[in-house]
Amino acid sequence: MAWYRAALVILVSIAALACAPREPNQPLWLEAGCSSIDEQLFLEAVRTWNEVGNEHVGADLIDFQGTWDDKNGLDPERDLNDGRPVFYCIDEATVLALRPPGTPSETIILGYGFGEDILAASQLVRDRLTAAVKDDVLPDEGFLEASVREMFLHELGHWVGLYDKKDESRRGSIMYYTSGNDGTTKDGPDAADIADLCVVYDCVKQP
Ligand SMILES: [Zn+2]
Repeated sequence: MAWYRAALVILVSIAALACAPREPNQPLWLEAGCSSIDEQLFLEAVRTWNEVGNEHVGADLIDFQGTWDDKNGLDPERDLNDGRPVFYCIDEATVLALRPPGTPSETIILGYGFGEDILAASQLVRDRLTAAVKDDVLPDEGFLEASVREMFLHELGHWVGLYDKKDESRRGSIMYYTSGNDGTTKDGPDAADIADLCVVYDCVKQP
């Protein structure tokens, strides 16, 4: 799964990895413009990471602060790395506007950790998934929702301090992505993801 995931992920806020353990309970807002279904899927993904945090780190990983009404719309210059971490739901026009120079035109930039903000193009995911799977996998609403939930889990995985995994041996990782879509989705981090988390945090319980 996860062919749709970004070919490019820029993460500069995880520099904390270099020395001290990351503190749990990091505040995060959700852009108020996300659809209600996206808000629901986002909250489910937050809950999943916080369950992992409570079991292995002894605390929530994400301190959800509620919605943030960005009345002026997303402006990367102004909004990214402004000290208020926000999870944005973005549309295709915004994705294209954010495409860095030199990115191959066929590259689909969907999930996108950018400094302290996480951008996730869930409607675009839905549209592309619908188009991509219509011939061989039933694009039923359950599958589409599971796919968007998985994308949110992946992007929040960056937020809690994990990097992408491209190694075949990490297929089960929520942080893994490929260019193929086998019609399956993942519903949370695996033991290896949690082992990675325990490099980032002081764990009270190893996986
Ligand atoms: Zn990623």
